Amino acid sequence: MDKKKLIAGNWKMNGNLEANDALVRAVAAGMQQARCGVAVCVPAPYLAQVQMLRHGSSIELGAQDVSAQEQGAFTGEISAKMLREFGVRYAIVGHSERRQYHGETDALVADKAKAALAHGITPIVCVGETLAEREAGQTEEVVKRQMAAVIHVNGHCISEIVVAYEPVWAIGTGKTATPEQAQAVHQVLRAQLRAATEHADRVPILYGGSMNAANAASLLAQPDIDGGLIGGASLKAADFLQIIAAAR
Ligand code: PEP
Repeated sequence: MDKKKLIAGNWKMNGNLEANDALVRAVAAGMQQARCGVAVCVPAPYLAQVQMLRHGSSIELGAQDVSAQEQGAFTGEISAKMLREFGVRYAIVGHSERRQYHGETDALVADKAKAALAHGITPIVCVGETLAEREAGQTEEVVKRQMAAVIHVNGHCISEIVVAYEPVWAIGTGKTATPEQAQAVHQVLRAQLRAATEHADRVPILYGGSMNAANAASLLAQPDIDGGLIGGASLKAADFLQIIAAAR
């Protein structure tokens, strides 16, 4: 199915007021002919700044995490309702750095996706195997297990999510999955979604993991790769714009 691709930047814990200003202005100015959706997932303290900066452009605002809880005694957490007040359209959930450094389980990731959806935020649900899991031939089993938890908790709303396949060994390492390796996993995920919803073909499945200006076009040409989740390259306007230009 021919749908509009989505290029989402994940700034991770990077940026400052001055650099953000320059970056968002440059991206907004350079993406006027973009044929894809564009989002930037920024650190929470900068949501208000980027919400103002993006005005007048079609850049969508994203968060990098969201609480599974509605409100209350959860120090340090940020609810979906709060994010919504800042115009947040997307929230990354289950990024491998959250799973690895903050012990996030498949069940918690699924609950976070549900909390986001309940407040009109589209969760970008990250799944992906480690190098050890790939080498042990467990890639399919791992991504299916991670997805199954999200499908189980979200039921028919699953057609409203965005999925990001991010092999952990490719994130921030400069090692990218080949287009064929990525497509093979995207196909597995698409089949799993098809078994869960008749609207599976409208769920964007992004690839993430060292996507850059040089490799974006060949990855994005794969039939089940509907866009990219971009870390390092989203911090440089010229690189991010080249990836946006490759998404057609
Ligand atoms: C990410 O953080 O989601 C990511 C894909 O990072 P990078 O592009 O730097 O590998």
